[in-house]
Amino acid sequence: MTPGIALIPTTAAGVHLSTGGFEAVVRGLSSALAALAPHDVRQLRTPPVIAREIIEKVGYHRSFPHLLGRVSARADDGAPAESDLVLLPAGCYCVYPVYAGARLESSTELSVEATCFRQEAGAEPGRLRSFRMREFVRLDTADRCLAWRDDRLAAARDRLAELGLETESEVASDPFFGRGDRMMRMLQVERGLKIELRAEVAPGQVQAVASGNYHTDQFGGLFSITGPDGRVAHTACLAFGYERLALAVAHRHGADPHDWPERVRKVLGLEVPA
Ligand code: ATP
Ligand code: ZN
Ligand code: MG
Repeated sequence: MTPGIALIPTTAAGVHLSTGGFEAVVRGLSSALAALAPHDVRQLRTPPVIAREIIEKVGYHRSFPHLLGRVSARADDGAPAESDLVLLPAGCYCVYPVYAGARLESSTELSVEATCFRQEAGAEPGRLRSFRMREFVRLDTADRCLAWRDDRLAAARDRLAELGLETESEVASDPFFGRGDRMMRMLQVERGLKIELRAEVAPGQVQAVASGNYHTDQFGGLFSITGPDGRVAHTACLAFGYERLALAVAHRHGADPHDWPERVRKVLGLEVPA
């Protein structure tokens, strides 16, 4: 059995078991990242599934049909039938419906931990099909959403630097499905809607360990959420991939956490040798 910090592959590509050491690092990352939000922030934990109608409402099934994991079950007549659930592709889709129809009195922030699934085409290290995310989600005015995303990204970058991860910050785009892809990506990049912090998670594998997204009033409009200024709420989110971050830390400092610098162990709450 692999000692230390490891993801153990299974017969299914992109699906791994994690060691106790790996999970201790994930717990450490969870508290180190949680501390980036105000202490009284609303916390949510998601299940690994979400109502299919929500995912259809936000258009994920059109934008990313190649990534969406569908759940089928048997109907009464024994024929396979699509259920009312799909596998959750990202944490923040669980949040917007909670505020459907709400009129927000002030800036609203949540901290969400989610188990996610994406039917990724590749299975290079760090590209999993089942993985976990922490997301901070902000519902606010347009200006404050953008400022919040950039401030929180900067704070996240500092926190990751304390873990020895020097990240590059880059304007990014999502791999949309089909013919609209190029146009959607250009629009996303031009408007600076998505910014990634990238780090090496394995030799030669530089990947996004965190992504900050500004969605304009897309979700506020879909779910009829009114912002603190009385207009349609704008939203932004900042998502961290736990497995990618743990892999990046282990890649940086080695597979045995006993050898990690004391300050890194301290930030992660791993016991510091006397
Ligand atoms: P990539 O460009 O690498 O596919 P992404 O743009 O799809 O990443 P997001 O949709 O912004 O990523 O997801 C938020 C975060 O979740 C990412 O910053 C990353 O840390 C993590 N993440 C995304 N996809 C995966 C995956 N397949 N395996 C592990 N972590 C992932
Ligand atoms: Zn999100
Ligand atoms: Mg992706």
